[in-house]
Amino acid sequence: MNPLIYDFDFAELAARVKSWGEPKFRGDQVWDGLYKNLWTKPEEFTNLSKSLRAKMGELLSFDALTPITIQESKDGDTQKTLFELHDGQRIETVIMHYEREEGQDRNTVCISTQVGCGMGCKFCATGQMGFKRQLSSGEIVAQVVYAARALQDVDKILTNVVVMGMGEPFHNYDATLEALARLNDKKGFNFGARRFTISTVGLVPMIWKFAEEGLQYNLAISLHASEDELRSSMLPINDKYPINKLLEACRYYVEKTSRKLTFEWALIEGVNDTPEQAHILSRKLKGLMCHVNAIPLNTTRGFHGRSTSSDRAKIFKETLEDNGITCSIRAHRGIDIQAGCGQLASRE
Ligand code: SAH
Ligand code: SF4
Repeated sequence: MNPLIYDFDFAELAARVKSWGEPKFRGDQVWDGLYKNLWTKPEEFTNLSKSLRAKMGELLSFDALTPITIQESKDGDTQKTLFELHDGQRIETVIMHYEREEGQDRNTVCISTQVGCGMGCKFCATGQMGFKRQLSSGEIVAQVVYAARALQDVDKILTNVVVMGMGEPFHNYDATLEALARLNDKKGFNFGARRFTISTVGLVPMIWKFAEEGLQYNLAISLHASEDELRSSMLPINDKYPINKLLEACRYYVEKTSRKLTFEWALIEGVNDTPEQAHILSRKLKGLMCHVNAIPLNTTRGFHGRSTSSDRAKIFKETLEDNGITCSIRAHRGIDIQAGCGQLASRE
């Protein structure tokens, strides 16, 4: 199989083009075409000679992702694409539009980092399918380029990237960070670091490592429970990295980076949406610069818990806020097309 063009960083791509006997600036042109013009096939590079276009097509692969189905939610604000990869594996990517009364509208893409996931969280459809394989950095990059291009075609601009699709990004740490660096590259796609958010289930050693990277990406931690027994029953990884160890790494991250952390909390009726749970959580997070993002549970085939009600969610939020912890309740989104948090799998 030909190497995937999105797997190269600039230096690698430039060296490849130069090795074909092309002058140095051709490397820049190809890079600009990919990441500034968002061209996705050799024919689009009309500023290059026919022979160079032909060579790119012969020696490199542009087909990271083949769209199989595109579904749109009834409200029109969420679009989910099922892609086939070169080996027949499948992933999903979600584009979300948020209307803003003031300022620029938000258009966010939620990207995948793995086919399936090995973390086995009970309420997550991706976890329910198990781990299939890692995505390469180029397969991660290509999802963002696809979204930027799809939005551009309808006169919209991509404003945010959340690494919250299928898979655990810190279990594919290098490829994920390489992909984000490629998209952040000023010379190319130039997407600001603060507009990326990585969400992790809480792989403690990687949080320590990430704290040292000196990167400006936002970090979110999927907490969901603040007592080990309950957390372990839903997130098996908690047996390996229990809450105190996780929060120790989180405190170090905030201290080291001076960046606010987000904790994610899927509200499950009668399980973790009670005022008592909110009190325990606020005690655990005391003194930590953070925000809690609570999401009413989305339903999945393999989990029987029920979503919280809006009244209960409101009390949960107020209890946290009375204790000095800011909290937002995220709206259900794209539920009619199974595009909500934790609903991504690779079914058609
Ligand atoms: N693996 C990473 C990122 C992907 S999951 C992680 O777990 O953080 C993105 C978010 O959706 C996580 O916070 C995850 O806990 C949450 N999630 C998973 N299943 C869910 C469900 N059924 N309802 C609501 N949120 C869910
Ligand atoms: Fe994996 Fe995240 Fe789903 Fe857990 S919630 S199974 S870590 S994708």
